[in-house]
Amino acid sequence: MATLFSAWQGVLQRIGKAAGKAGRVTTDVRLVAVSKTFPADSVRELYALGQRDFGENYVQEFTEKHEALADCPELVWHFIGPLQSNKTRSVAERAHWVHSIERLKIAERLNAQRPADLPPLQVCIQVNVSGEASKSGCEPEDVVALAQAVTALPRLKLRGLMAIPESTEDTDKLAGQFALLRRLRDDLNTHGFELDTLSMGMSGDLELAIAEGATHVRVGTAIFGARDYIKQETQA
Ligand SMILES: *Cc1c(COP(=O)(O)O)cnc(C)c1O
Repeated sequence: MATLFSAWQGVLQRIGKAAGKAGRVTTDVRLVAVSKTFPADSVRELYALGQRDFGENYVQEFTEKHEALADCPELVWHFIGPLQSNKTRSVAERAHWVHSIERLKIAERLNAQRPADLPPLQVCIQVNVSGEASKSGCEPEDVVALAQAVTALPRLKLRGLMAIPESTEDTDKLAGQFALLRRLRDDLNTHGFELDTLSMGMSGDLELAIAEGATHVRVGTAIFGARDYIKQETQA
């Protein structure tokens, strides 16, 4: 379908332009195509065009799509949604990445449930960078302790940090929240960690995130179009 192709190309061009402006190379920034609420056929279509990394938010939907797309060997699955402790198993068995670790209990369960024949699950700690009480993610002052605990889990590989900033048009505020995540990652590396990943930036703000060092942008709407909200609500 021409429209999916052109939307995807448009996002890749935005990434390339933003990377160039920041003095970075395009290959430093991975596009994670967020396919939540869209059918497995849309994922398959984009995979056929060359996209490899896909993000999902809901365990049930992720599980179904993973099965439907088992014949796509290079597909890299990123689980990016909130994870309840009674739903970790399917993710531990199927995902390549989990971006949304916000407490140790979830990490411990994923570690225990990660099959021995798979490589360690690559994970990011999600940080609440906006200070909003309602937001997911661990608090910035708790990141070091959580990172230490996660690093001790042998079936997980801590790659970096993830954040969803405040929903605002205020670009200074957004840039400040992205910069905070980068600072937290850099502080960890100063203290002996080796974290290469900053998962930040979505359809509306990926340029700002790339300017602040994003290595993974998670983009849904700008590729697949607007989501059906009713479906999204009933899945959460
Ligand atoms: C849905 C979602 C995205 C994609 O957001 P868009 O604005 O559609 O690009 C990125 N990250 C997370 C965690 C999401 O839940």
